[in-house]
Amino acid sequence: MSDDTPAHILRRVFGYEHFRGHQETIIQHVMAGGDALVLMPTGGGKSLCYQIPALLRSGVGVVISPLIALMQDQVDALLQLGIRAAFLNSSQDSAQTRQIVQQLRQNALDLLYVAPERLNNPRFLEFLDSLPLALFAIDEAHCVSQWGHDFRPDYARLSILHERFPHIPRIALTATADKPTRREIISRLGLENAHVFVTGFDRPNIRYRITQKRPPARQQLLSFLNAEHRGDAGIVYCLSRKKVEEVAEFLTVNGWTALPYHAGLSNELRQQHQNRFLREEGIVIVATIAFGMGIDKPNVRFVAHLDLPKSLEAYYQETGRAGRDGLPANAWLAYGLEDVILLRKLLSNSEADEQHKRLEQQKLEALLGYCETTQCRRQVLLAYFGDDLVEPCGNCDSCLEPSATYDGLEVAQKALSCIYRTGQRFGVNYLIEVLQGKGIDRIIQNGHQYLSTYGIGSELSTDQWRSVFRQLVAGGFASVDIEGHGGLFLTEKARPLLRGETSIRLRKDSPRATAEKKLIRN
Ligand code: ADP
Ligand code: ZN
Repeated sequence: MSDDTPAHILRRVFGYEHFRGHQETIIQHVMAGGDALVLMPTGGGKSLCYQIPALLRSGVGVVISPLIALMQDQVDALLQLGIRAAFLNSSQDSAQTRQIVQQLRQNALDLLYVAPERLNNPRFLEFLDSLPLALFAIDEAHCVSQWGHDFRPDYARLSILHERFPHIPRIALTATADKPTRREIISRLGLENAHVFVTGFDRPNIRYRITQKRPPARQQLLSFLNAEHRGDAGIVYCLSRKKVEEVAEFLTVNGWTALPYHAGLSNELRQQHQNRFLREEGIVIVATIAFGMGIDKPNVRFVAHLDLPKSLEAYYQETGRAGRDGLPANAWLAYGLEDVILLRKLLSNSEADEQHKRLEQQKLEALLGYCETTQCRRQVLLAYFGDDLVEPCGNCDSCLEPSATYDGLEVAQKALSCIYRTGQRFGVNYLIEVLQGKGIDRIIQNGHQYLSTYGIGSELSTDQWRSVFRQLVAGGFASVDIEGHGGLFLTEKARPLLRGETSIRLRKDSPRATAEKKLIRN
């Protein structure tokens, strides 16, 4: 078969006319003996990237997969196509195992699926030594990440492949593509020389939008739904069970069929709500992040976030449940100062070790950067995954309603010096009252009416000051105390701003009344 071409195999064996995205380049690269790290979303077509080279190179392609339950299906599908495939895992008896070993000895298999723990077995490794090997494919490669949800200790030991079989090409594949995970995969699997391929993450039909939160945010959600999504199915994500219940109730009272979904409900009720969402028209599910794994409903028209997701990765996954049918869909998020403060607090309270914390910190900065950007959201989102979009997308709020920015040095200085003069221990509401020169009792008691920053900020409304503080906290110029009072203090980064040594541009969030009317789907 070796004088065959990938395109020919694609047509003759798999019955497809064209390669998708980078498939062909990846296949060529691996066929030529190169290592590869392939980042592609679920459904993107990762399997062909190792299956075709395994067919075209001599020897068997060994696929390491953690999903034992799926091995049977994968192998059955390959056999249907006339590909000589088998799997080895703990579910088989010794007769079955012997038969597969026999086939391998006779060079009668193109693909062999194994669970990762098999590669801890010295006898199995010796056996592999005796076989001609086409390649190693490491599926779901993010399982090596100690910080991820799917960590598998057995994956961490897969560096053995590189050490023991240095001349056999390795291709690692995953749909999880953030940069920290990618770095971990590369270092743990010894893929320093691998070519990294990132493709297919763009979801052009999803319109990304972020609204400044003006409590109560659920009222903003309702306005958005009433204006744009009557009769549509969608998902609303909240952080806590309590909020899920409240929001579902609120939407129901306001004429929507909204069902709660969270880990505190009985299995039956959760199942029932999920089934209604899948089968009936126009159901809104209000859920904690527990909802959505494995849900494949094509006509979800919106995904709304009333709280910030955990990371940009999570945001991409969650919003990705909208518009699977390719028709226009909205990813709507309400974001405010409280969210920034909450996440900053969670991070400083985190009991993780330093390395883990740094990683969480990077993820948080990326998420806040996305929320605060005035650039095309899609470009920022895809850049985070390394899947670059050359032109602004024309289908996000930044592109459709560019937000004005202004020279924020003076207001930033006022806000930061107010934090400083009041002793770096007060929350935002208090700080704003001082800036606006309000005469409330607490200010008088503290004698803060005599401060030089008292009343110097009357030119901005409360909403506008909140926006300034949000951007300063998101930008890391001020931070929140760990004790939990929500007091703001200055960081090192604040100094050059206070001294006027750097400049800062702030975004002008749209005022309350117009914000809700903007961006009605056209
Ligand atoms: P992933 O592993 O990335 O989730 P798969 O490899 O399972 O995705 O592919 C998803 C689906 O797309 C499969 O049904 C597969 O047969 C199909 N597919 C993959 N590549 C192509 C292609 N070049 N043309 C048409 N269909 C393809
Ligand atoms: Zn855009």
